[in-house]
Amino acid sequence: MRLILVGPPGAGKGTQAAILSEKLGVPHISTGDLFRANIGEGTPLGLEAKSYIDAGNLVPDDVTVRMVESRLQDEDAKDGFLLDGFPRTVPQADELKRILSGLGLEADGVVQFDVSEDVVVDRMLARGRADDTEDVIRNRMRVYETETAPLLDYYAGSIVTVQAEGSVEEINERALEGINGLK
Ligand code: ADP
Repeated sequence: MRLILVGPPGAGKGTQAAILSEKLGVPHISTGDLFRANIGEGTPLGLEAKSYIDAGNLVPDDVTVRMVESRLQDEDAKDGFLLDGFPRTVPQADELKRILSGLGLEADGVVQFDVSEDVVVDRMLARGRADDTEDVIRNRMRVYETETAPLLDYYAGSIVTVQAEGSVEEINERALEGINGLK
């Protein structure tokens, strides 16, 4: 399956994607993880992305799209993938459509993780990642509302919404049910 996961920062997409990836047998492609790996290795892409990420802003679309385009061409993504954190803007969604159609493919659907703002702030503060300070979290939430939430209209018709409060297992069950409904 080729799935796109959407939800505010702290919605638990990464946690769910890791489990779903095992269960569905497709790779978990997280742009946040790819950026953090590049930062860790000190690559030029990592150096470019770091200042944006530290401030809770989006990395520019061209940089992000190039990184995803290259990752989607890897052998393991041929038969499916879970995209976590991409697309995050409408222009990125247009680019994804272009990339996939170039490969003769299209996404099977979008899984939206729906969670209240209080819960996500608590989860992120507990996680304690470098970009999880209160100011940066607040900025990421604002960026989500303005840049990413419009994707819910963009993908209307191919979205399943998963209520993402509760235990990891409960949410995973709901996600799998939703995904089964897409087939
Ligand atoms: P979270 O889901 O908590 O926001 P991620 O690991 O998905 O965390 O992303 C961390 C940061 O990486 C984002 O705040 C942003 O700076 C950058 N990033 C991730 N995905 C994208 C993307 N598709 N476009 C631009 N920037 C991105």
